[in-house]
Amino acid sequence: MLVVPAILACDTRAVRIIRPGDAGDDVRDVQRRLIALGRSLDPDELEGRFGPSTLEAVRSFQTERRLPEDGLVGPDTWAQLVEAGYGLGDRVLYLRYPFLRGDDVRALQRRLNALGFDTGREDGILGRETDSAIREFQRNIGDAIDGIVGPDTIGALARLRPDDAAPSRAVVREAEALRSMHGEFPGAVVAIDAGHGSDDPGISSPHGDESIVTLDLAVALAQELEARGSVPLLLRAADSDPTPSERAQLANDAGAFALVSLHLADDALGTSCAFFGTASTYSPAGERLAQMIQQNLCGLGLADRGTHRLAISLLRETKMPAVEVEVCGLRAEGNRLHDNGFRRDVIRAIAGGIERFLSVPAEPAGVPGT
Ligand SMILES: [Zn+2]
Repeated sequence: MLVVPAILACDTRAVRIIRPGDAGDDVRDVQRRLIALGRSLDPDELEGRFGPSTLEAVRSFQTERRLPEDGLVGPDTWAQLVEAGYGLGDRVLYLRYPFLRGDDVRALQRRLNALGFDTGREDGILGRETDSAIREFQRNIGDAIDGIVGPDTIGALARLRPDDAAPSRAVVREAEALRSMHGEFPGAVVAIDAGHGSDDPGISSPHGDESIVTLDLAVALAQELEARGSVPLLLRAADSDPTPSERAQLANDAGAFALVSLHLADDALGTSCAFFGTASTYSPAGERLAQMIQQNLCGLGLADRGTHRLAISLLRETKMPAVEVEVCGLRAEGNRLHDNGFRRDVIRAIAGGIERFLSVPAEPAGVPGT
């Protein structure tokens, strides 16, 4: 079993979460961005007070962006508020580190893909694949091949009028690649993320903190996967709490074939599985992995809370099919996880879903929609 070295897993993060009841400049900044995105707020709150209308606006923004609808402005929601403010042409785009992110990058990816160039997933992150597609596009139109998307390249893109309404090419390509996958489970690296960590315990309950329960499940899942012949990679240890981006990077660097992030639900009963997706795009491979794990867990009698799209950084920044599993409700059902038989069934259900995903090719299907 591979375990991430402690030096990579240590992290000094100081992200302040902006929440209802807060007041001040950072709340005013959030409000300014919400208003620019078309949300209306109660004038009484515009002095930088996080009141009910701000909460409502944050929640509706989270729904639209496929983020957890908790009404809190944490790292993901804040990043998306910033990214949503960029339209294509607002700034010059090019490959740099850290990668540029934003709705302008996503619009660029969508157009290039619609024209037959291959940016990879339409994730709104300008990485190497998108850079190659930009250069390929510039080569095709006889433009200077500099990888810089300024007014000239945007003008050329606009003149070619790619069909923005067509199904996303990135989704079609990923679905095609999925059908040629088979027999990849033996020896494949499978990343296992125990949700939360030493700095953030997640949900607290009489059955233990979420971070403790997820690590316990993650270790058992790693053992099960190893016994079945794959190579599990645990993304954190008991005393660490890497950021979601660091976890994604670890899995990418290890060349993982699949990633499963383990969480528990708050008060809800039953299982749900999330895969990368926004309103306009999603990962068909992530969806298939989610469905296979979901089906197995529901087969144990857990209530079916379904599979859904989620745009959190861990799912967005990972290159491999990735799924966040909420195994069951921690407060309502956490006691069941102390039952060895049930716990073993849960582990086998998740491992079996991953094994099937990596072993059995997907059925041919029509062109997936967006
Ligand atoms: Zn959680």
